[in-house]
Amino acid sequence: MQRNSSSSSLLTQSLRHFAGVVLVGMALATVFTIWTPGQFSPAELWGQIAAALDMPGESPVAAAPTPTAAPTAVADQPLVGLVSGHKGNDAGAVCPDGLTEAAVNLDIAIRVKAGLEANGFRVELLDEFDKRLEGLRAVALISIHNDSCEDYGPTATGFKVAGALETGAREKSSQLVACLTDRYQSATGLTYHQDTVTRDMTEYHSFYEINGETPAAIIETGFLFLDRAILTGQPERVAQGIIDGVICYARGEPVQAPTP
Ligand SMILES: [Zn+2]
Repeated sequence: MQRNSSSSSLLTQSLRHFAGVVLVGMALATVFTIWTPGQFSPAELWGQIAAALDMPGESPVAAAPTPTAAPTAVADQPLVGLVSGHKGNDAGAVCPDGLTEAAVNLDIAIRVKAGLEANGFRVELLDEFDKRLEGLRAVALISIHNDSCEDYGPTATGFKVAGALETGAREKSSQLVACLTDRYQSATGLTYHQDTVTRDMTEYHSFYEINGETPAAIIETGFLFLDRAILTGQPERVAQGIIDGVICYARGEPVQAPTP
């Protein structure tokens, strides 16, 4: 009786173990079917696996079956950090009538945040020098700025993008730059203004504050003088270009070479 009972319990345990292995295998197959390179960090990948297993996503060790956990919980959504340029620090460029770069940046950033959230991302809207930048782990960090309101003549129009190319996320950052450049140009029709990519952009301070594995880019969405009409009159197009760029990167979509 004793022996029968224990051998039956051993059989039950073996069957449970086998079922567990099959379940994990199925979940991994699901995740790797939808996964594309550069889409998720290992931690986020675990989140996807955990979601497929219907488990909490903190860590493999802490994971325990909780059938009621929703796979699309906010904490499991991929995080994007969004710096609203100059916010909490200074005005940035200022136009003669008082329009500030910081205000234009913030209007765009709020629209980008809403658009990305509508596409399943979690977004943290950050100040220029935000404590949350330190060690930030995210699918991407994007900083939104604009160029001068001075009249520099007819060529001072267009946008530019620079990425964190000296960190551990060099390749991912250049993919992010390619996506942002391509999608922003499509959405706005603005030209790429290569000549005015400065060290303030290529060596942007936030690149070195975030976690070294987090891809990052800074975009100057236009010149406040010549591009003011689209920047303030059609900010939804400006925001859409950035939203499309982040989605392009996160989904590993193909990109055309930027038009000079
Ligand atoms: Zn700026």
